[in-house]
Amino acid sequence: MSDYDDQNIFAKILRGEIPNKTVYQDEYVLAFEDINPQAPVHVLVIPKGAYISIDDFGTNASAQEITGFYAAIAKISSDLGLKDSGFRCIANTGLNGGQEVPHFHMHILGGKAIGPIVSRAVA
Ligand code: AMP
Repeated sequence: MSDYDDQNIFAKILRGEIPNKTVYQDEYVLAFEDINPQAPVHVLVIPKGAYISIDDFGTNASAQEITGFYAAIAKISSDLGLKDSGFRCIANTGLNGGQEVPHFHMHILGGKAIGPIVSRAVA
């Protein structure tokens, strides 16, 4: 896997160099509103550690970071009122996954029916 690029936009957000609309943070994660929302609720959850993708995170993060990340997703989705209505988590990964920002992030989408699991697949 290639090296982590510390000039990616989410690294800059973590360092406070670019503003964000924070919805939650703790020692493991920062969660903020997506700048181009695709649903009434569209939040990005990112680890505070420097991980490129979900596979980098799953391979190299500590057990505490991984537990903290998923505990935060549960808390955020509950705090945002999505628990009963449901929501979707998406982690685009690499070229075929359409990942634009090379810092692992989980999209949380909700507030309406999100539709088919793959809506923009290219044949
Ligand atoms: P992905 O295609 O999974 O890498 O998604 C990257 C996401 O980051 C997109 O949904 C963008 O709208 C979002 N995004 C890019 N720049 C910012 C920013 N400065 N603040 C919040 N969200 C952003």
